[in-house]
Amino acid sequence: MSSDPASIELIIFDVDGVLTDGTININDDGSETKKFNVRDGFGMRLWLDAGFKIAIITGRSGEALKHRLASLKIDPELVIQGSRDKSEALDVIVEKTSIDPSKIAYLADDWPDLVAMHRVGLPMAVHDAEPEVIEAAAFVTARKGGRGAARDAIAHLLKAKGMYQPGS
Ligand SMILES: [Mg+2]
Repeated sequence: MSSDPASIELIIFDVDGVLTDGTININDDGSETKKFNVRDGFGMRLWLDAGFKIAIITGRSGEALKHRLASLKIDPELVIQGSRDKSEALDVIVEKTSIDPSKIAYLADDWPDLVAMHRVGLPMAVHDAEPEVIEAAAFVTARKGGRGAARDAIAHLLKAKGMYQPGS
């Protein structure tokens, strides 16, 4: 039984394959370059401006992500990079926000997300997620990771709340 999307207060995003298309460009000096989607970013602003929260759980870490999240004004307290166990990371986020897991959505693409996904009220998968992740999801986005999936997920929740309207 998944939660009513209208009851969700916090969305957790995985990064690689969710906020990006999963590509990691490695430069000659070993640094990494990632591509983020501007419309995903706008959706994240809409969600935050509506008074809800965003958290990030990723197994990797990097400066590009830090800069992107800072520009979106995502609370750095709720950004967990280098996570070896995403279920443990979920515990940290629940403790920091005092939001019950039943009011949390999680957008995922691959196996490391599965345990945490199973524990939240609204597990969601990007369109091109692994089959097991799609199967575990209560909602699957129309668009792929890094190509508007985060925007789709946020639109789904805000529509359920009657809060998804273009401004004039
Ligand atoms: Mg991923």
